[in-house]
Amino acid sequence: MSQAPPRRPSGPPPGPPPRPLPVADEDTKPFWEYTRKHELRVPKCQNCGKLYYPLSPICPHCLHMGADWAKLSGKGKVYSFIIARRRYHPAIPVPYVVAIIELEEGIRMTSNVVDCPPEDVRVGMPVEVVFDDLSPEFSLPKFRPAK
Ligand SMILES: [Zn+2]
Repeated sequence: MSQAPPRRPSGPPPGPPPRPLPVADEDTKPFWEYTRKHELRVPKCQNCGKLYYPLSPICPHCLHMGADWAKLSGKGKVYSFIIARRRYHPAIPVPYVVAIIELEEGIRMTSNVVDCPPEDVRVGMPVEVVFDDLSPEFSLPKFRPAK
């Protein structure tokens, strides 16, 4: 009769869980390379000259393939928002604000509003970009009340 093998601990390693990171692909890699340098840039179509976001290899205005990366001011206002009170990931504490930010260049970007209590966030509130350095590879653009 053989003995049962010693039990090994199961489950995740001790300590705080790692924060989830974005996954860059060929189309989004330049965006993340710029945010790592704390620059907010989006594609500017080489044909019609319009900015666009979400990121795509094809201009949504004229279907042209080919864009330059235009630097944005990082200034905008809260277009809409919710306060997340339910924890969806163990590494992301609640509450936090998920907002659609309307940048002054006309681009709308989903992000977080930080550096202020969630209850103080208002539609139309002026905000400016700030970069959250998640890892050596990824800095997430977030927005704080404009100073
Ligand atoms: Zn275009």
